[in-house]
Amino acid sequence: MPEQPDKNAIEVRGVRKVFGTGENQVAALDTVSVSIRENEFFTLLGPSGCGKTTLLRLIAGFDFPSAGEILLHGQDIAPLPPFKRPVNTVFQSYALFPHMTVAQNIGFGLEMLGKPKTEIEARVAQMLKLVKMEALKARRTSQISGGQQQRVALARALAPQPKVLLLDEPLSALDYKLRKEMQIELKRLQHETGITFIFVTHDQEEALTMSDRIAVMSAGKILQVGTPWDIYDKPAERFVADFIGETNFLTAAITGMGNGKARATLKSGTTIEATVAEGFQPKGNATVVVRPEHAKLSNSKGDLSGTVENIVYFGTDTHIHVRLDSGEAFTVRQQNTRSAGCGFERGATVGITIGNDAAQVLRD
Ligand code: ATP
Repeated sequence: MPEQPDKNAIEVRGVRKVFGTGENQVAALDTVSVSIRENEFFTLLGPSGCGKTTLLRLIAGFDFPSAGEILLHGQDIAPLPPFKRPVNTVFQSYALFPHMTVAQNIGFGLEMLGKPKTEIEARVAQMLKLVKMEALKARRTSQISGGQQQRVALARALAPQPKVLLLDEPLSALDYKLRKEMQIELKRLQHETGITFIFVTHDQEEALTMSDRIAVMSAGKILQVGTPWDIYDKPAERFVADFIGETNFLTAAITGMGNGKARATLKSGTTIEATVAEGFQPKGNATVVVRPEHAKLSNSKGDLSGTVENIVYFGTDTHIHVRLDSGEAFTVRQQNTRSAGCGFERGATVGITIGNDAAQVLRD
């Protein structure tokens, strides 16, 4: 676990952003509050149109909130124009100057700030080293690859030593392998510079692997903020569980509560114990979720029974899709072992055992 910094870099308090008027009005942000700590890799995660970019643009100062305030290190930043905020942005499109060299691009912001030539040269050299682009410093940015352009865009944004770096889907234009490399690179850069990174993505895997904490957004609201582990393992509601990773949803009748757990009777007739999110009192029919890796498949009787419909091989693991006798769908993820198949065939009758602490009852 990374050391938990305790000071807030950014505090967003009750921020609303409304676009348009009358019938065409859209609340891109619907009363959002969140605190982002110093030296944190913080990710805004959510589907297209949920308000991620809008929140980033308000922090950068490219747009203004309709209500609420944004504090940077405790100070209201509303009066500061974008260029006076100690915040810099890396855009999806990189926005580099193609006729300038790599070094000129990196030094551009510093020149605009009127920094002395010797200081600019020293800082550019430091940035070239940080992003491992020394060998290409004299190349024009129109003559380097997409991944290299991404490094230059990062170096240019980091050069003026912002307190906060905003990154709006910076890896989405890269192919899968390069994206994986740049994910590691970005984490290294954040760690080495100690700058607060606010990273926007709609890719849940990217968010889980890179972030210290994640805010999951939907329709202009923040639904949950937590560590990747919290978000994946203790989703607060159905949307979060569904958006992050794969999940099985089962309908159950809640027949009682005890020791903070709910007794949930599944459609198969089996009663299991399921954890409950804090402050939630489930009653009647409820949704129980189980991650595919927290269930075990066998040829004997289990908590659930059904028929194997499909087997999908993923290299490290295999996903086995089962049609339960209740008609519900259920996927089990099984780790692969060397030179052995998954042990089941399409059409086989199987039992599924749900692991201890694996089931959770969620708010719909
Ligand atoms: P994406 O992942 O597709 O970039 P996003 O989560 O960043 O999406 P936003 O760009 O913040 O979402 O948009 C949030 C909502 O506000 C959307 O419904 C969008 O159509 C609307 N919106 C954003 N900017 C404007 C604008 N300038 N005028 C009107 N509506 C806007």
